[in-house]
Amino acid sequence: MATRTPLMAGNWKMNLDHQQAIQTLQKLAWTLKDAKHDFGTVEVAVVPPFTDLRSVQTLVDADKLEIVYGAQDVSAHESGAYTGEIAPSFLAKLGVTYAVIGHSERREYHAENDALVNAKVKNALKAGLKPILCVGEDLETRRAAAHVAHTLLQLEGALVDLTAAQVRDVVVAYEPVWAIGTGETATPEDAQELAEAIRGRVAELYDDETAQAVRVLYGGSVKSSNVASIMAKPDVDGALVGGASLDPEEFAKIVRYQS
Ligand code: PEP
Repeated sequence: MATRTPLMAGNWKMNLDHQQAIQTLQKLAWTLKDAKHDFGTVEVAVVPPFTDLRSVQTLVDADKLEIVYGAQDVSAHESGAYTGEIAPSFLAKLGVTYAVIGHSERREYHAENDALVNAKVKNALKAGLKPILCVGEDLETRRAAAHVAHTLLQLEGALVDLTAAQVRDVVVAYEPVWAIGTGETATPEDAQELAEAIRGRVAELYDDETAQAVRVLYGGSVKSSNVASIMAKPDVDGALVGGASLDPEEFAKIVRYQS
């Protein structure tokens, strides 16, 4: 069975300019160094705004940090007349490892649908980036007990025409929309239910080996006080952390599953 290295990714959203990004990243690196964090055991990523990426790259390279970084979105196009968009090849040149794709805030405020998410996932993979594909239901869907079906449909839509080898590079983040930025956390059992269902669907669409290789994160109001119980679940391979990742000491605790 594949061993999956857990990933803790901090999504800074539209917070922290490039100067604040440097301070936050330095503090995170120092805190993890003091704690003698083993990056081979738990991978650590920060996902800053695009305008911070060059500064983040400079600091990571200069201080030889083991922290990796991602972008919060990516264009579905390779280059050309797409004002305001960022090509994945540009990100790859900045040393970017991950690209968050299909975050619920992009789906809600920018009308991103499964077809666009699928195009972005393919384009990111083509440039050598690893997608962090976000899926998850809103409150109404959960109340109607349609959360599993809804989330798996989003998953299938995002993976259309991908090979098994490509899917192994995709990280899936299960993020129930009602738990994002609300302080409401899904229970560890809720996180496990969906992580297991996502892995099961990958096995049906591809094969067991691929399903065992894919990392499934939970996201939605993760904090140091709840991370350990979520990470104790067998199919949960890490967390996508929003608000709590802006505080480097709190995020360092989350990385280490400490309360
Ligand atoms: C997110 O933005 O992906 C997220 C999970 O946010 P928060 O941790 O603030 O709920």
